[in-house]
Amino acid sequence: MIKYALKCKDDHIFDVWFDRGSDYDKQRKRGLVECPVCGSKKIEKAPMAPNVKRSKPDGLDKIADKIRDEIENNCDDVGTEFAEEARAIHYGEKPERGIYGSATPDQAKDLIDEGVKVVPLPDGIAPKPKKKIN
Ligand SMILES: [Zn+2]
Repeated sequence: MIKYALKCKDDHIFDVWFDRGSDYDKQRKRGLVECPVCGSKKIEKAPMAPNVKRSKPDGLDKIADKIRDEIENNCDDVGTEFAEEARAIHYGEKPERGIYGSATPDQAKDLIDEGVKVVPLPDGIAPKPKKKIN
């Protein structure tokens, strides 16, 4: 069986099953195929809808994995101490290094207000904190 999307002269689109592709031509020539909406026998094949992919573009997950690896390999996980650590580094109380961790929205806002460079990481890129969040 093969399914064809067909269209009449008035643009009514409908599906018809045929035993095989050649049956469509035969039946149409004999006037056996008609529009179920208006009964027209002026039928042609409707253009098939493209098979639209709704998933993420290929490679995006891989890029996210790469970024996450970079962060995990090059930065220290400071967990919930993030705000304190970031501030200490900013004010030179601690040697400069890359850190990552979690901060509450208020903490993040305070850091930004103080001019501390913090970057929120979207889900999928942010490494999972190894330390437990209180
Ligand atoms: Zn029709």
